[in-house]
Amino acid sequence: MGDDPASRVYVNNKKKACEELGIYSEEYALSEDTSEEELLKLIHTLNEKRDINGILVQLPVPKHINEETVINAISPKKDVDAFHPVNVGKIMVGNFDFVPCTPAGVMELIKESGIDVRGKECVVVGRSNIVGKPQAMLLLHQNGTVTICHSKTKNLKEKTKQADILVAAVGIPNFITGDMIKEGAVVIDVGINRMADKKLVGDVEFESAEKVASAITPVPGGVGPMTIAMLMKNTVKAAILQHELN
Ligand code: NDP
Repeated sequence: MGDDPASRVYVNNKKKACEELGIYSEEYALSEDTSEEELLKLIHTLNEKRDINGILVQLPVPKHINEETVINAISPKKDVDAFHPVNVGKIMVGNFDFVPCTPAGVMELIKESGIDVRGKECVVVGRSNIVGKPQAMLLLHQNGTVTICHSKTKNLKEKTKQADILVAAVGIPNFITGDMIKEGAVVIDVGINRMADKKLVGDVEFESAEKVASAITPVPGGVGPMTIAMLMKNTVKAAILQHELN
């Protein structure tokens, strides 16, 4: 909804990924002043549509729309972002169909890099419903020892310095600096911050961090593309699950 430039880029990238993979997609670009009622009506129509297996509402929505109401309206079976409380609950329990795309992408990067999470000190900086909280749960399910930090955390550096695996999802450019990282740590930078010169930077100061980290993700090009890949994976899974049910 509306014309947020970052949302435009994200939606275009998702559509492109669908095209590349041969996944049929429909885009509904609603104007800023569309009512909540109209948006909910559209979601209900798509919930019922048999040739649509996955639905996502690109966030943020305009202020007059209640984000929670919108998320709750999406059928949990088609909730490929995994934001619906049913899917959030399943992640908590550890028996889930869909995983939120960004934390899932982080886990995939860790797995593919041959990094074993078991018993490791994992520190997640950020506790949003979209990234920080599910990230912490996924690391816990992999038997990491997990600490979640946020804006009220005291002595943050002391916490981050303990991390064997450090995930930064703060939304502040270059927030985590090399001196906050333990020698040899794995550093995953979820942040995407657009600077005044249009350059994208992460939440980790790459230059100082790469000197101490044993592995580190770049921004752009690290977690971002993985997020889209995981969205596609969730969509394929949704299609399979819905065909099994029918
Ligand atoms: P939110 O703004 O929802 O959450 C930010 C979190 O950081 C909050 O939990 C906040 O704490 C914490 N925080 C803020 N300031 C500090 C501080 N000084 N010290 C410690 N913690 C702090 O952001 P998101 O989780 O949605 O996104 C985080 C970043 O990841 C953003 O840069 C976003 O653009 C990016 N992102 C990237 C994606 C990708 O595909 N790669 C997908 C989604 C997001 P508190 O809860 O106390 O306010």
